[in-house]
Amino acid sequence: MNKREFLKASGALLTTALLPVISSGEPMYSESPTITGKRTNWSGNYTYSTDKLFLPASTEEVRHIVKAAPKLRTLGTTHSFNGIADSTAAQISLKGLDSMVLDRATRTVTVGGGVPYGKLAPYIDSRGFAVHNLASLPHISVAGACSTGTHGSGIKNGNLSTAVSGLEIVTPDGEIVHLSRQKDGDAFKGAVVSIGALGVITKVTLDVEPTFQVAQTVYQNLSFDVLKDHFDEIMGSGYSVSLFTDWQNHRATQVWIKRRIDSGAKPNLDPQFFGATLATKKLHPLEGHDAEACTEQMGIPGPWYERLPHFRMAFTPSSGQELQSEYFVPREHAYEAILAVEQIRDLITPHLFITELRTIAEDDLWISPCYKRPSAAIHFTWKPEWPDVQKVLPHIEEKLAPFNARPHWAKLFTMAPDRLHQMHPRLADFRKLTQTYDPRAKFHNAFMDTNVFEA
Ligand SMILES: Cc1cc2nc3c(=O)[nH]c(=O)nc-3n(C[C@H](O)[C@H](O)[C@H](O)COP(=O)(O)OP(=O)(O)OC[C@H]3O[C@@H](n4cnc5c(N)ncnc54)[C@H](O)[C@@H]3O)c2cc1C
Repeated sequence: MNKREFLKASGALLTTALLPVISSGEPMYSESPTITGKRTNWSGNYTYSTDKLFLPASTEEVRHIVKAAPKLRTLGTTHSFNGIADSTAAQISLKGLDSMVLDRATRTVTVGGGVPYGKLAPYIDSRGFAVHNLASLPHISVAGACSTGTHGSGIKNGNLSTAVSGLEIVTPDGEIVHLSRQKDGDAFKGAVVSIGALGVITKVTLDVEPTFQVAQTVYQNLSFDVLKDHFDEIMGSGYSVSLFTDWQNHRATQVWIKRRIDSGAKPNLDPQFFGATLATKKLHPLEGHDAEACTEQMGIPGPWYERLPHFRMAFTPSSGQELQSEYFVPREHAYEAILAVEQIRDLITPHLFITELRTIAEDDLWISPCYKRPSAAIHFTWKPEWPDVQKVLPHIEEKLAPFNARPHWAKLFTMAPDRLHQMHPRLADFRKLTQTYDPRAKFHNAFMDTNVFEA
């Protein structure tokens, strides 16, 4: 989305431009927001509580805005479904900070806080590099995705935040802090998945690897019975594997296998896969939606960034008008957790577009949903029916409680704060870290007050 589309999509009115004023040799900036007017998140299910949005064009401008603002919250590409990015005072978008610098020697790329994966991917690919994985859509910003532990799939693939090796953060007093995996040890692991709490991330450095090709094949109708003894084998049958289900008929409606073909592996074109049947045409995971919006299938090889996400950059991902929830359980309990949710299928299906089941490797990022746990993720793309969905979520959470499910930070959940704290062993450390960075709570919002500071 370019800036014009951003303004249109957000329904915002351009009011006061953020003009640098030169006075006594010191650049000064208007404290008026660039945009005022009611805005919503991408899905339209959440209206932000402030109509003020700053759109700085440089790190210097970010510093001045942050320093002057009594309260502030950073906004990425607005793809979260809850109030995680909300503020009652003002938001700041880093859309204007879109630099990308590849360092071949260190095998890293450093991107500005506003760069989405859809822009980063062709840039590094054309120079011979890739990131290890992508989420279902390339539209999200690198900084926003890594701040919430956003993930793709793959038994051996950590979530997207695990590729972060460095951060540049503008802290509440307007100062710049550089953190790196190499020099900052455990504190760095606390700062990567930071849900916007430490300051404004103006640059993210990611590990890159040599570019690779991926071929994607889709199978239909995989019985849940085969998951009992073969869950890991099925989820490990490609570099990234997703199962989709509507929870009816004890089966996955589709199996998406994304196989790397750089290591001599061939696209899986067997007519059968654990009893599921090879699709004969390109499919959308949501019934009735146009498969044109999806990445190439049918075993046709292509660049990693045009296969690892499910949805293409130039198209609306998923449904568009929807809600999402997701819970992470230890992978070893995936099958039992799936059966537990299946018990309440008739509560779920009427309000569901589709469920996606994925796997993610464990990591050591303090408040990552995959902290110290090889994980299976049970995701729900809901119809935009919040009053009903809100009633179903506690049932799902109850069914998943025996497996110590952790909710996705950026999606909808109803878990009580004290339960959330039990699920995240480093949340208390994270709270201390935010207090060190932000003692006056400039970056706090209601979501953080409830989910990080309550209980
Ligand atoms: C259609 C769709 C598909 C999705 N698919 C997946 C998926 O496959 N896997 C998955 O895990 N998630 C998925 N998500 C969820 C999505 O990845 C997360 O909501 C992600 O955080 C969105 O990033 P964003 O740039 O839109 O950030 P926002 O939603 O705008 O913000 C998210 C958080 O990041 C913080 N933040 C953003 N930018 C900065 C910055 N520069 N500095 C400091 N803090 C910042 C915000 O304050 C907020 O706390 C999907 C969402 C949608 C709408």
